[in-house]
Amino acid sequence: GNGFFCQHCGALQPPDPTRDYFSLMDCNRSFSVDIGKLQHRYQQLQRLVHPDFFSQKSQTEKDFSEKHSTLVNDAYKTLQAPLSRGLYLVS
Ligand SMILES: [Zn+2]
Repeated sequence: GNGFFCQHCGALQPPDPTRDYFSLMDCNRSFSVDIGKLQHRYQQLQRLVHPDFFSQKSQTEKDFSEKHSTLVNDAYKTLQAPLSRGLYLVS
């Protein structure tokens, strides 16, 4: 599994707090990031967790999708710009 959905019932799971931005965005933990790959991964994750896709689901899954979506946006913005990426790398 990709760690986002329950293997048994398919329900969206809460974000894994131990997973860092590099792991989430499928990037090597280094200063040089493949921006094309990063953008592709961002779009892939948005299609997976976007709140619009959970409008018919339970409130719990809606809340998780909001959290995932915010996390994915933050991870993308942080890793996309060299300055914030560098700061994140040394933090
Ligand atoms: Zn389940």
